Amino acid sequence: MKFNLGVKLLISYLVIVMTGVFALSLTASIFAPAALDRHIAEMQSMGQSAALVADLHRNFRAAVNEILVISTSVAMLAAGAVSAFVTRRILDPIRQMKTASRLIAEGDYQQRVKVYEEDELGELARTFNQMAERLAHTEERRMELIGNVAHELRTPLSSVGVLMEGLVDGVLPQEPATYISVQREVARLQRLVDDLQELSRAEAGQLHLDLQPVNPIVLVERTADKLRPQFADKSVSLVLHLPERTPQLDLDPDRFTQILINIMGNALQYTPEGGRVTVTADTQAGAFRLRIADTGIGLRLADQQAIFERFYRVEKSRARTGGGSGVGLTIARYLVEMHGGHIHAESAGLGHGSTFVVSLPLT
Ligand code: ADP
Repeated sequence: MKFNLGVKLLISYLVIVMTGVFALSLTASIFAPAALDRHIAEMQSMGQSAALVADLHRNFRAAVNEILVISTSVAMLAAGAVSAFVTRRILDPIRQMKTASRLIAEGDYQQRVKVYEEDELGELARTFNQMAERLAHTEERRMELIGNVAHELRTPLSSVGVLMEGLVDGVLPQEPATYISVQREVARLQRLVDDLQELSRAEAGQLHLDLQPVNPIVLVERTADKLRPQFADKSVSLVLHLPERTPQLDLDPDRFTQILINIMGNALQYTPEGGRVTVTADTQAGAFRLRIADTGIGLRLADQQAIFERFYRVEKSRARTGGGSGVGLTIARYLVEMHGGHIHAESAGLGHGSTFVVSLPLT
């Protein structure tokens, strides 16, 4: 049966009181009549003197006192037993939680406590276990992040190492092309470190938005103008189909531009020469929706969600040579969600282009 702790305590005290009352009435019913009868019989045989009546009262009081002593002792014994039982039921789980929290503080994140009952203590134990679960998960992600970072740093660092070794040994010529290769690897490391810093701040909830009412279309057009030379260099056309009028949104203009640069930059990167990137926007169901569609390499269904996870690349070697760190979309997702919106990718499959859809709530 499901009782809360207050009810349990009440029941335990009632048990004590009832035991006392029961003991009192039981002993009174056994001893009092016998004592009284004995003395009335004595009074009758001796004649009713005042001394005898006084004796009757004295004896009766003594009997009642006797009864009280016995029943109080019984009640106290019962109270002791019941309260010891109740205290143990409360203290055992608390002691367990104390030990578990000390072990968790020492780094053992697998500690869990037993959930004994469905009362407040049971709830506390369950919440404690949830907390331990979250800490274990955070620790797991931290270890995973350190592993990923080490892995990501290894490639450019070993490239720089090989290039420098070649230069020292005289295998590589001391000419601008060699130094440019070194510079490219260093720039990649720099980008990676910047991305990682941004990612860790996003994951720790330390990125702050400077929200202000802005017209998102203006920001899309501005970003497109900034990227046009790169699109022209690769012969990929950039087409905008944007509505004339759009309600203003509460956005952080710099962060929104960062999202746009990431998605449009990816669209350019993963679209071969001669391709096209089309940006459209509309407003429906209380949301502003931006679609960035490319005619590039496309995405398999399995990758359409995974690409938003950190360090996920569809094809590791391809993205590495292209300089991608695999965290751009993760940061973009954080930024979109911080704006109260969401982002997803659509594609009809490999070779059929991809579309990235960003939805943001209207103010
Ligand atoms: P990266 O810096 O590697 O581009 P992102 O987080 O921006 O990292 O993207 C993750 C992965 O998603 C990329 O490595 C790429 O495989 C895939 N991707 C992103 N955008 C596109 C796109 N427009 N078309 C096809 N694949 C894409």
